[in-house]
Amino acid sequence: MSFGLMTLGAFLYFYGAYARETRGIKNNHIFHSSMTSRGWLGIVLGSFMIGFYIVLYFYPEYLTNWVLLVDPISYRLNGGPASHWFLYGTMYTLVIAVMGIRMLLKYRGNPYQTIRTISVIFFQTALAFIIPEILIALNKPGYDFKNIWPLDYDFFYGYHLNTLMESGMLGWFMLFWGIALIIIAVPLITYFYGKRWYCSWVCGCGGLAETLGDPYRQLSDKSLTAWKIERWMVHSVLVFAVLNTGAVLYTFFSGSYSILGIGTESIKASYGFLISSIFAGVVGTGFYPLMGNRVWCRFGCPLAAYLGIVQRFKSKFRITTNGGQCISCGNCSTYCEMGIDVRWYAQRGQNIVRASCVGCGICAAVCPRGVLKLENGIEAGRING
Ligand code: SF4
Ligand code: SF4
Repeated sequence: MSFGLMTLGAFLYFYGAYARETRGIKNNHIFHSSMTSRGWLGIVLGSFMIGFYIVLYFYPEYLTNWVLLVDPISYRLNGGPASHWFLYGTMYTLVIAVMGIRMLLKYRGNPYQTIRTISVIFFQTALAFIIPEILIALNKPGYDFKNIWPLDYDFFYGYHLNTLMESGMLGWFMLFWGIALIIIAVPLITYFYGKRWYCSWVCGCGGLAETLGDPYRQLSDKSLTAWKIERWMVHSVLVFAVLNTGAVLYTFFSGSYSILGIGTESIKASYGFLISSIFAGVVGTGFYPLMGNRVWCRFGCPLAAYLGIVQRFKSKFRITTNGGQCISCGNCSTYCEMGIDVRWYAQRGQNIVRASCVGCGICAAVCPRGVLKLENGIEAGRING
């Protein structure tokens, strides 16, 4: 009932805010609202979310009453009591669904945004939430078939490899599926469609950013300094992820817990604490109302770094610009969640080929002159004007 009433309240609000309005993307008063312009309401919400993630990761015992709320759902899905991670998964999925409906209302009339939003709701609900729970009920590994290493940082951890290898044919299939995603699917699909296929259509982190985070996309830092920091940070995290995985695999195959005098368990613990708890959770989501909705994807996600390298150097995806039509209003740059100064390219009639672009398409959606177009290769056919 608690979750149901919250959902109903949200729908009533969205109905008043979007459904009764005429069509067209409305960002009216976004820089005057305390919630969406780093005002006191935004700071309160950010502090609450940061606090929630700290409790979730480090003091889950304080969530016991919340966990009990979702016990009935857990019993129905996997036959056992809920854990704090089940609570988190339920809330995460519900938030993407509810805020996804807000996206559908806000961007109605825009087929790209409509299909993309339905896609992230589907992948989160079916692949990240329901199927893993059903697998657990069947005594199989609760595997999320769309989660890809290195975002899925513990895929190669010893306990996970052992679980998969002890789960018969299905376990071996999961192991090969996970590896095939890394070495075949990521380069191949990114070559044809850019990183948007994953970051804006499939990924759970991207799904939350695109739905819950939509009211905050204008808060991303567009400065050159931020771009520099972004490149250093995201590639450093990728290197850290590779080293961490190398260390755990070394332990798995050799049985030794030390490599060049460094304990592999300490590398694993540092990665878990710094990257997956603090960066991805506390900062990545808690800072939506303060630093925009893609802090994690932009500065921290090692998979985004890998996808970005393929997109930048070996992909047909680009945003073409019809510079002659640009009136320099700056809407595109303002609403780019990845901090890309889209207008700079539009004014010059240059293609936008950036490693960080997640292909959300919002820059094209908010452009009043139809200057921007997301394309997959020159044969798709538009020349810059
Ligand atoms: S450039 Fe456009 S499509 Fe790319 S991330 Fe920014 S708003 Fe989204
Ligand atoms: S939103 Fe369109 S018209 Fe405005 S600056 Fe960007 S490309 Fe130019």
